Amino acid sequence: TRSITNSTNITSQTKYKFPEAHELCKEFVLSKKVMNEVIERLTKEIKLGLAKATHDKATVKCFVTYVQDFPSGQERGKYLALDLGGTNFRVLMIELKSQTDVKIISKSFGISKELMTGPGQMLFDFIAECLSKFCTEHNVDKKKEIPLGFTFSFPLMQQGLDRGILKVWTKGFICSGVVGQDVVQLLDEAIQRRNEIKIKIVAIINDTVGTLMACAFYKCNCRIGLIVGTGTNACYVEKTQNAEMFEANHERTPGGKEHMIINSEWGAFGDNGVIDFLRTPFDKQVDEGSHNPGRQIYEKCISGLFLGELVRLILVDLMQKGAIFANQESHSIQEKGKFLTRFVSEIETDISGAFDYTDCVLNEIGIRNASDKDKACLRYICQAVSTRAAQLTACGLVCLINKMDVKDVAIAIDGSVYRHHPRFHDMLYINMKRLLQKDIEFQLILSEDGSGRGAALIAAAATNSKMNSK
Ligand code: BGC
Ligand code: MG
Repeated sequence: TRSITNSTNITSQTKYKFPEAHELCKEFVLSKKVMNEVIERLTKEIKLGLAKATHDKATVKCFVTYVQDFPSGQERGKYLALDLGGTNFRVLMIELKSQTDVKIISKSFGISKELMTGPGQMLFDFIAECLSKFCTEHNVDKKKEIPLGFTFSFPLMQQGLDRGILKVWTKGFICSGVVGQDVVQLLDEAIQRRNEIKIKIVAIINDTVGTLMACAFYKCNCRIGLIVGTGTNACYVEKTQNAEMFEANHERTPGGKEHMIINSEWGAFGDNGVIDFLRTPFDKQVDEGSHNPGRQIYEKCISGLFLGELVRLILVDLMQKGAIFANQESHSIQEKGKFLTRFVSEIETDISGAFDYTDCVLNEIGIRNASDKDKACLRYICQAVSTRAAQLTACGLVCLINKMDVKDVAIAIDGSVYRHHPRFHDMLYINMKRLLQKDIEFQLILSEDGSGRGAALIAAAATNSKMNSK
């Protein structure tokens, strides 16, 4: 658990006044009343996703994951894992030696624009190729059927632990021929086309589930997995009887398991207009310029793929009004996607009067002679955008905690925004405190390499339970 350190008050810099920026950013500040409204609306959407009668039309899908057990802590062995879903693709080899000794070897591969937007077969062939290379480099026995867990972080309708149909792409991926298909089968076919290695794909999981599992391996009150990275999403522990999409297809056996992890896919919250009441003109612009207009509306207010772009659009507006960077030109500011979310984190790392990080960012985007007032204004805009992102994330977590009706809960978290933004953790914590009943305790825990470890743990559990039932 990290402690509270930095100030979270965004209006603490009173030395300068920037009325125009203030006017534009006003709408980003969420009152407690608005946050409570968000919680209430998300709760409704989650119930619609869980229920069989409304699932098809629901926006927050609440997919069943077929994960019903937490790790026992006794899982051992060597597993391969793949992690696809952000800016990088990774292959991992995980050796579970003991509860405290987990050996991980991994290799990252960049996913080019071409791969993200080309035919699906090209993407899966690339994945199979990376896997092969990795196995060669690390002398993995290519004839032994090594169990593999596939962390695939997109909305997946699961039909089993090792079977899942892609419903829709997110995060800038738009590969053709994958939506509506079983992703495990596509990967399996790609591996067989290469005909180099023997692999058994035993599980496909969401990154939120991996994150939760990795943390639950040693922390027993962990019940939520959260990602705030390129995209955002959360999974949580639900009563199996409420997971109607599972109950409907699986006869309830006596002694059936009581719980099921639900992949909420909360990024799609608002796709039906229910959070339009808090969206700003900039949110609408971000949406219109995206690969998936009208979709992932909540995600577009929160996650790394969009925060920088929101700041950029505010800057463009202010520059047109002559209210910031007067007489300066910057191609980066004029071009979509060129103001990175990393910049937001860096700019906010500067505290009070210092602008060291801000200067580096300005240099990167080609702005030379900014005044201190302009720099303070830029920071103010970043703070407005990131504060709202944390407030909205807090609403989501409070909604899940209330839904589970627990009094003490640990939340496993991963993702670039949570990791690198200097105030995100604190803002999340403070806003959750504001919104939760006083008697509820919670811990926000950084889950190291959840998508890799988690996939291995689930692969281990899946392999063993199959062995046991033979
Ligand atoms: C995806 C989720 C994923 C999240 C974080 C979203 O865009 O739909 O499946 O968990 O990003 O990676
Ligand atoms: Mg990831």
